[in-house]
Amino acid sequence: MKQEKRTEISSIGEFGLIERISRNTEALNESTVKGIGDDAAILDSSDKQRVLTTDMLLEGVHFDLAYMPLQHLGYKAVAVNVSDVAAMNAVPKQITVNIGLSNRMSVEAVDALYDGIKAACKDYKVDLVGGDTTASYSGLVISVTAIGEAEAAKVVRRSGAQKGDIVCVTGDLGGAFIGLQVLAREKQEFVENPEMQPQLGTYSYIVQRQLKPDARMDIIHELAEQNIVPTSMIDVSDGLASELLHICRNSGVGVQIYEDKLPIDKQTYDTAVEFGIDPITCVMNGGEDYELLFTISQSEYEKLKNHMDIHFIGFVNEHANQARLVTKGGNVVDIKAQGFTHFKK
Ligand code: ADP
Ligand code: MG
Repeated sequence: MKQEKRTEISSIGEFGLIERISRNTEALNESTVKGIGDDAAILDSSDKQRVLTTDMLLEGVHFDLAYMPLQHLGYKAVAVNVSDVAAMNAVPKQITVNIGLSNRMSVEAVDALYDGIKAACKDYKVDLVGGDTTASYSGLVISVTAIGEAEAAKVVRRSGAQKGDIVCVTGDLGGAFIGLQVLAREKQEFVENPEMQPQLGTYSYIVQRQLKPDARMDIIHELAEQNIVPTSMIDVSDGLASELLHICRNSGVGVQIYEDKLPIDKQTYDTAVEFGIDPITCVMNGGEDYELLFTISQSEYEKLKNHMDIHFIGFVNEHANQARLVTKGGNVVDIKAQGFTHFKK
């Protein structure tokens, strides 16, 4: 085994650690007046509305350090919050990061975690403006809070879908879930045979979907350029089924979607088959794809119809709380709320 350098956090202390964390955190946004280093961050308020969202990730519940490199974990913790901001049609500006550190965590490990956090900050143009650091006796805890902004008229909720609207989804679905199955299998094989080298080449896309999700800010910027404000929107963190039902419930409408329109990557499809899992189940009930599900009025269709990465999967109707899937064989089935849940275990 390669011996990695390990510096105990106690040897540099909490202030030493925060000093390291605060390196390379120069503000990218005008609204960041003061970031890390005082009792509180100072943000300039604008005439826009602010959105605020937070997500907590616990070792053993949301991630397993056996296959989640710390850098990826840091990146993902930021990306999932950015995705929530994106789902409001807002632009993320600042984040804070709270960490609970177990004594297994060295200074180098915290550095790796923050390398990932800072890489995501750079990619999504957000400023790390503060946080808190404590000890944890039950594994690593990381909680990120993100603040974003948008013009009041452009903020999109889950509640605005209307009869006749077109249901759209970005990217492809199910990959992150099946990628997790691959990683779990690799871990099992590793436990049985520690000499084994991971063979992830054939699964590179889906493993990446699990380890390094991408928040779809690109779509938010493109919609803004085209002057399109979706009527409703949500990010796909728990699987398409549960997100569709959220839109139905919040908007008081129904949706009908078509199996043959669902975007599924070939590697996702093939690997699901290899694992004996129905690929459509991965799409409907897998989690963590972090794509955007939104509805647009039909008048906006022309502007988006040639978009390579937006798929039109169905329509909104007046049947409140009724989400239905038309299968390839022409059967109509009810979509059940069986979101990806960490409480299943
Ligand atoms: P206080 O005692 O007032 O909570 P801290 O010593 O915890 O102050 O924090 C000092 C500064 O470092 C603050 O700006 C705080 O937001 C920032 N900070 C502390 N922990 C973290 C962290 N894990 N990530 C980012 N910033 C942090
Ligand atoms: Mg503190």
